[in-house]
Amino acid sequence: MSAGSFYITTPIFYVNDVPHIGHAYTEVAADVLARWHRQSGDDAWLLTGTDEHGQKILRTATANGVTPKEWADRLVETAWKPLLQTVNIANDDFIRTTDERHEVNAQKFLQHLHDEGHIYTGEYEGYYCVGCEEYKQTSDLVDGTGEYAGQLVCAIHSKPVELLHEKNYFFKMSAFADRLLALYEENPNFVQPEAARNEVMSFVQRGLSDLSISRSSFDWGIKVPWDESHVVYVWFDALLNYITAAGYGQNDEEFASRWPATHIVGKDILRFHAVIWPAMLMAAGIEVPKQVFGHGWLLVGGEKMSKSKLTGIAPSQITDTFGSDAFRYYFMRAISFGQDGSFSWEDLSARYQSELANGFGNLASRVIAMVVRYCDGVVPAAGELSAADLAIAATEKRVTDAAGAFIETLAIHDALASVWELVDELNGYITLQEPWALAKNPETRARLESVLHTAVRGLGTLTVLLSPVIPIATGKLWTALGGDGALADQRLDRAWEWSGGAQVSALEPLFPRIESIVEPSDD
Ligand SMILES: [Zn+2]
Repeated sequence: MSAGSFYITTPIFYVNDVPHIGHAYTEVAADVLARWHRQSGDDAWLLTGTDEHGQKILRTATANGVTPKEWADRLVETAWKPLLQTVNIANDDFIRTTDERHEVNAQKFLQHLHDEGHIYTGEYEGYYCVGCEEYKQTSDLVDGTGEYAGQLVCAIHSKPVELLHEKNYFFKMSAFADRLLALYEENPNFVQPEAARNEVMSFVQRGLSDLSISRSSFDWGIKVPWDESHVVYVWFDALLNYITAAGYGQNDEEFASRWPATHIVGKDILRFHAVIWPAMLMAAGIEVPKQVFGHGWLLVGGEKMSKSKLTGIAPSQITDTFGSDAFRYYFMRAISFGQDGSFSWEDLSARYQSELANGFGNLASRVIAMVVRYCDGVVPAAGELSAADLAIAATEKRVTDAAGAFIETLAIHDALASVWELVDELNGYITLQEPWALAKNPETRARLESVLHTAVRGLGTLTVLLSPVIPIATGKLWTALGGDGALADQRLDRAWEWSGGAQVSALEPLFPRIESIVEPSDD
């Protein structure tokens, strides 16, 4: 890792289905963090992509009468890449586990572990859930109901598991339990938030089994390099994307400059990332990730969001009405990042109106309209500053620093709450200073100019600070404020230093009124 490198990843998404707002939520969080670091002078790199191997994909493709690669191609082009546009993700790379760069270098990794004695041949019998693509412990199974009465079913999928018996290759993961526990102890930030760390630690403290890492009952996967009758277990394959995308195995210089990464994952796949993955890297002699952050679940009506529970909402159902900025703002602001959070159309609609349209959008419109009306659009110079003006400047500095500190701990919701203190304070400042009254009297002209100067400056600070979260609205506002250069090039950590452009120009409403919200029905 080079100084200032910030490599952040989303999970790669399984192409078996189409995206719902839970996937978009993960993408947006990683994108906001990447944009924030990029605009703070770091060499930020955002990776996302798709997970395309495994028995579940093979079965779905076969059921649809196409090859698994054709199925994956179709879903990537019609669903997963469009998702990134729907919620405005500025990713630097998109990896598919069927990319040659991934397959070839994943095989190198596996061969290396084999050569170093971390892999052995064994027999395995266990209950396998195709939905999870993993062998389940009996404690993960429950009695089926309805059509599956009398059978054991996966507690997550409520579908019967299969008793499989295979000759498999095993990774000696059990040998790494002590080193993993030492890692969690010595680096409390390795797994966050705290509840996730505690869960992972107690899981490893109960002891680790070795991991079956190959399958021979089907062939849709990366071939085990020393035995082509086996394909690599899909999770073992998928986790490697984080290093194969960064140059592992083929570009040592690039790899050294990017790795290690910060991984953003849903808490349901925490163990794969915080236990199996660092053990794999330890075996290969590669540095472990910088951090594994498990965010919470989105709940709709109290249920985890997933298509299998029939509560899936397509991100475009929200963005078609509210726009991508509002989607990004809402989920980053309303849900404490790391905790579960509830989505509701009512809450989204209320925050859109009160915070984005009335709070921020209206502030921007009023300030620009007053500069146009009272000063012919020329941003006035500040005269003597009053205590109220200086208080705004102090808040700009304070919230810039506070938001940056919150981002360091991935507390995106707290960063936004800090920035909103400036939104509220500026609105209150304008109400109290009454520039429209100052404009009526030539004797208060100097005061009017100081007030408008202060308001424009504050608005500029907000524009920069909010640009990672609502890039479209802030881009329009930056242009209207007459800001120099591209907004994306403005330094977030120095947002408060902006001293105003020369001339403002007209601004359309940033968050127009939405007349009626039709709640889409589940289908
Ligand atoms: Zn399952």
